Amino acid sequence: VARTGAVPPGRDIDELVAAAHARGLRHAEGTVADYIPILAQVDPELFGLCVVDVDGGVHEVGDTGARFSIQSISKAFVYALLCDALGHEEVFDVVGVNNTGAAFNSVVAIELNEGHPGNPMVNAGAIATTALMPSATAEEKWEAVRNGLSRFAGRGLEVDDDVYRSESLTNQRNRAIAQLLESYGRIRSDPAEAVDVYTRQCSLLVDAHDLAVMGATLADGGVNPVTGERVVSADVCRDTLAVLAASGLYERSGEWLFEIGLPGKSGVAGGLVTVAPGKAGIGAYAPRLDSAGNSVRGQIGTAYLSRALGLNIFASE
Ligand code: GLU
Repeated sequence: VARTGAVPPGRDIDELVAAAHARGLRHAEGTVADYIPILAQVDPELFGLCVVDVDGGVHEVGDTGARFSIQSISKAFVYALLCDALGHEEVFDVVGVNNTGAAFNSVVAIELNEGHPGNPMVNAGAIATTALMPSATAEEKWEAVRNGLSRFAGRGLEVDDDVYRSESLTNQRNRAIAQLLESYGRIRSDPAEAVDVYTRQCSLLVDAHDLAVMGATLADGGVNPVTGERVVSADVCRDTLAVLAASGLYERSGEWLFEIGLPGKSGVAGGLVTVAPGKAGIGAYAPRLDSAGNSVRGQIGTAYLSRALGLNIFASE
């Protein structure tokens, strides 16, 4: 029996996803990230768009099987796993939920906030989140992260070793952020180890289809609609989506919420996951980014789908 919460029945979703994809293809603005050197080698024309609804229905067009590193999108799912393990009060105290208004790797934002990382979607908060994962060793933390993200995706995710190496050689700034947090007593494990686990989690390979399944799991109150497995609780999904609404698209989160009206999370490799609570997850991949680090085609395709499927959470009809 189809649940009433799923995307509107009677609409040809495949046709709408194709139209959204065509809309995005018209855009060639933006630039591929190059501060992690290996990311600059990607084909900038790739574009995949996928909707997975809470009944497990899949609608996809374009390069939805092209793999890329998940990067910042991992932050949303590690945060959910941590809240599920520790409870949201404890995580809230350490990591916070307010938008910093600054770039994702800002050091100034930490300083202005008396050492508080701000929220779990900027690098400082994400490194503090990973550091809090309740395992004795860095290796156990890493396995908990990889295993948890794999359950969200419904398949075993693997690291792209080239991305991991490239970022490890050039992540001086993230190492500095972790040490700054340590100086303020805001990180509870070895900062270098926390950055290493964080760098590995950012290097996990996904495709647009995986992101849609991961988003659909958050939309479905924590149950992966493809595997049927409960990954996190419904309360954790609600809290995670609130954090994404405030801070999921870097310092453009307000513009995004205004235009699209849905929680989402982007990453610098060009991935974008969007969640329509109770309805569906949308996964997009296109490597050209706006100046804040959000996929240009991904945003355009998702905006089209939000309007065409009536997904904006602020709309009363
Ligand atoms: N691994 C990247 C970094 O820490 C993630 C950034 C992002 O996707 O926003 O710089």
